[in-house]
Amino acid sequence: MRAVVKSAPRDGSTGTTVKDCDRPVPGPGEVLIKVAAAALCGTDKHIWHWDPSIRRSMQLPRIYGHEFCGHLEEIGPHTDRTDLAPGDYVSAEMHVVCGHCRQCRNGQGHVCSNTRVLGLHGDGAFAEYVKVPATNVIKLDRESLPLKVGAFLDALGNAVHATQVSDLAGKSVLITGFGPIGAMCAAIAEHCGAGTVIVTDVSDHSLETARRWAAAKSFRNLHAFNAAASDPKSVREAILDLTDGGIDVALEMSGAPAAINFALDVVAMGGFVSLLGLPAGHSLQIDDYTTNVILKGITLQGITGRRMYATWERMLSLLKAGLDVAWVVQGEYDSLDDFEQGIDKFDRHEALKVIFYPHGRNVS
Ligand SMILES: [Zn+2]
Ligand SMILES: [Zn+2]
Repeated sequence: MRAVVKSAPRDGSTGTTVKDCDRPVPGPGEVLIKVAAAALCGTDKHIWHWDPSIRRSMQLPRIYGHEFCGHLEEIGPHTDRTDLAPGDYVSAEMHVVCGHCRQCRNGQGHVCSNTRVLGLHGDGAFAEYVKVPATNVIKLDRESLPLKVGAFLDALGNAVHATQVSDLAGKSVLITGFGPIGAMCAAIAEHCGAGTVIVTDVSDHSLETARRWAAAKSFRNLHAFNAAASDPKSVREAILDLTDGGIDVALEMSGAPAAINFALDVVAMGGFVSLLGLPAGHSLQIDDYTTNVILKGITLQGITGRRMYATWERMLSLLKAGLDVAWVVQGEYDSLDDFEQGIDKFDRHEALKVIFYPHGRNVS
C-alpha cells in the first residue's frame, strides 16, 4: 500500500517519503480500516519539519497522520465489538489509552498517563490502510457526514472539547487565533446560538476568512479584530463595549503569550477560559495574575485531546443537527503522492484544512 513515511530525521521532502509499505495485519482486538480521507494537522507540520517539539516522541521510520475516516476492511481476532462489520463507515480516536491508570479508571481517559498517539508513537493514517484498536473505532453516519468532514473529526473534537466548558447559547465568546481549530470553534459557537462571537488574530487574511464565513452564514454578531493593530487598548475597549464589560467564554487557540494574557484580561468575572494553544518554549508570563485570574474567579480549562467518548458523542450530534464545518477544507488531493504539494499549501496558510484521498476522491 502507498503510505507517507517519516523516513529520516530531516526537515521537508528529504525526511519524508511516499512509498509502498506492507499492509498492516490486525492483531487481537484490532481492526483494519481502508482510509477514504485523511487530513493534515499542525502536528503533521511539526513532523514534516522535524521540529524539536516532536523529535523525542517518534521512532523512525513511521507512517504519520492521525485525522481520517474510512471503511472497515477487516476485524482482527478476539475483538468484542459486535456492532462492527466490514464496510462500516468509521473514524477512530487515535489516542490509545491504557484503561488502567488512575485517570482512565476515573473516566478521564483523555488525560491517560500512558497515552500512545497513532501517527506519532505508532503508525498512522496517511496510508491506504490503518490498523487501530477496535475500542477506538467510531461509527459514522453516511447521511450527515461527507468524507471531507469525516476526515478531520480529531481536530473538530479538539474544538468541541474546548467549547464543552460551558453552554454557549446567548453568551459572548472570544476566539483568539483563527486557524483551523479556531475556525471550527467559531462554527460551533454560531451553531450553538452564541450571542456574540469575537475573533482576534494577527493575520488580516485570517480575519478576512472569518468575516467572509460570517457573511456567508448571515451571522451578524461576528466581530474580528487584528490583535497586532496599532492600538491594542482600543481593541480591548471595543470588546468590553460589545460584551457589556467582559467575555463569558474565551477560547485560546493561538498559544501566543500576548493572546493568552489578552483573553485573561477581557474575560468577565466568573468567566471561562479554554486553553488549547501551545506557547513556543512551553513557559509564559501571566500579567495581573491576582486581578485577572484570582479576583475574577474565572475557570481555566486546559484542552487536550477529546473526552472519551463524551466529546465524540457531542460532536456527532452537533453534525447531525447541521453544524457546518466543511468550509474549512480548502485543499483536496486525490493521491498521497501529492503529499508535498498539500503540506506546502497548508504550511503557507493557504488552506485551513487539507485533505488527501488515498484511493481517489470517488472511491469509497
Ligand atoms: Zn491533529
Ligand atoms: Zn490510562
